[in-house]
Amino acid sequence: MLSTMQDGQLSLAKLLRHGTKVHARSEVITWTGSEARRETYAELGQHAARLANALRSLGVTGDQRVGTFMWNNAEHLAAYLAVPAMGAVLHTLNIRLFPEQLTFVANHAEDHVVIVDGTLVPLLAKQLPQLTTVKHVIVANGDVSALEAPEGITVHAYDELLAAQPSEFDWPEIDERSAAAMCYTSGTTGDPKGVVYSHRSIWLHSMQVCMTDSMGLAQEDTALAIVPMFHAMSWGLPYAAMMVGASLLMPDRFLQPAPISAMLAAEKPTFAAAVPTIWQGLLAHLDANPQDISHVREVVVGGSAAPPSLMHAFEERYDVPILHAWGMTETSPLGSVARPPGSATGEERWAYRYTQGRFPASVAARLIGDNGEELPWDNEAVGELEVQGPWIAGAYYGGDAIDPDKFHNGWLRTGDVGKISPDGFLTLTDRAKDVIKSGGEWISSVDLENQVMGHPAVAEAAVVGIPDEKWDERPLVAVVVKEGQSVTAEELRDYLTDKVAKWQLPENWTFVEEVPKTSVGKFDKKRIRASYSEGKLD
Ligand code: ADP
Repeated sequence: MLSTMQDGQLSLAKLLRHGTKVHARSEVITWTGSEARRETYAELGQHAARLANALRSLGVTGDQRVGTFMWNNAEHLAAYLAVPAMGAVLHTLNIRLFPEQLTFVANHAEDHVVIVDGTLVPLLAKQLPQLTTVKHVIVANGDVSALEAPEGITVHAYDELLAAQPSEFDWPEIDERSAAAMCYTSGTTGDPKGVVYSHRSIWLHSMQVCMTDSMGLAQEDTALAIVPMFHAMSWGLPYAAMMVGASLLMPDRFLQPAPISAMLAAEKPTFAAAVPTIWQGLLAHLDANPQDISHVREVVVGGSAAPPSLMHAFEERYDVPILHAWGMTETSPLGSVARPPGSATGEERWAYRYTQGRFPASVAARLIGDNGEELPWDNEAVGELEVQGPWIAGAYYGGDAIDPDKFHNGWLRTGDVGKISPDGFLTLTDRAKDVIKSGGEWISSVDLENQVMGHPAVAEAAVVGIPDEKWDERPLVAVVVKEGQSVTAEELRDYLTDKVAKWQLPENWTFVEEVPKTSVGKFDKKRIRASYSEGKLD
């Protein structure tokens, strides 16, 4: 029997119309270094319409790809809305990719137009001659004359191009299953892979972001979106904000601790999101330059494991709770969120909060053991996590076949290893490729990092496995000592003795000025391993 319900397409054109009308007074606030420039969502709607008209005037039709090479700002948000709502496909280019990777992804996606921020023109310009499908480059927030276009590419000034356009656009009806946006994984192994989100997947994901037991984004929030818009769609914050009318505070290119604390002081956001390394940096800055940030009701941290020491520091010293979440580009990215059950109190609450969290109803999860068997949720059995759901990738863009390393009978293989409790809380021990295999046993690099970062003199610690004749692999700890402090390897080993099993105690330590980071700000373990094998680390 069919239902008697109406059918409605969950399209981003609808989201745009809703957000810019119903939440007309909410704002996108872009930091400019010392102050903010503001645009209401009503103005943003007109801005998006002008951009859509401009893109049409350049010949963008159908599902052509429009790339963005941009910081988090109002212009980028206008592209987030205009491009999918006009039926085209937004491709957020990671500005920190290696040049060959950037060329690969832009050509693979067949980007027709690229919108670039003025300050990023020098980075893009070097690669432009290799971008074979790009016909137009639009320079926003900067000097267009700085870009000399290669043959076959026309360069436009964003403001001039948009000024000539009407501020209304006849947004088409779009099938909710069609492509809206795409994002490439950063490709730690092999070429980057394209994940293509649909209007429907983005819509459903946005609803999840706003649920109370998820990030709980709401109309009274101002969300500081530090996580880049090219990193898994800024974790879904831009679309979720449009859905409920939360204002967005965009840091543009000002991502260092000092400007972040300045924008916190000036705009008093209620919510913020970024990877752990950003919060580690901000914590050190705040400790040296104390400031009241208790207006932030919650900070969501994911992308890598949130160290418990970081969670305690923000809560106890700054009255700001950290909400730990797990996800991937392939999962839109919201996969799980660590909100403890209401019945948990005291230490038990903390134990729940350290986990990667619980899956929402729409995300099914299972653990697979070494022999392909499904493992129980008993908080002990450790296996590879697989997930399934309406905002989880089922294939990669342009993949000829479904890659068995990434997909398994309709499930996404996450490459993450962990356990799940009977009440559905996921604890990740590691990424499969980062687990250290020592004498037939596994050592979790994340556990060791969290323990070392609990030492008061340690600012950052990254752990990788290095080859060992006797044990196969042993952990190497790369430590960044806090400014003005000192600590030795012996002292750190002593500190760990009652915290980790004796056979896990690392004998290899190296003190570094900075842990190398990936294009999205995570510890770059591949580079640490490479430096070690090249003899650049002791
Ligand atoms: P990249 O591959 O460049 O890191 P993603 O952001 O898609 O790009 O990375 C997803 C991966 O990040 C996950 O598979 C997992 O290994 C890691 N990750 C994300 N959130 C967490 C978390 N809360 N704890 C531990 N690891 C996490």
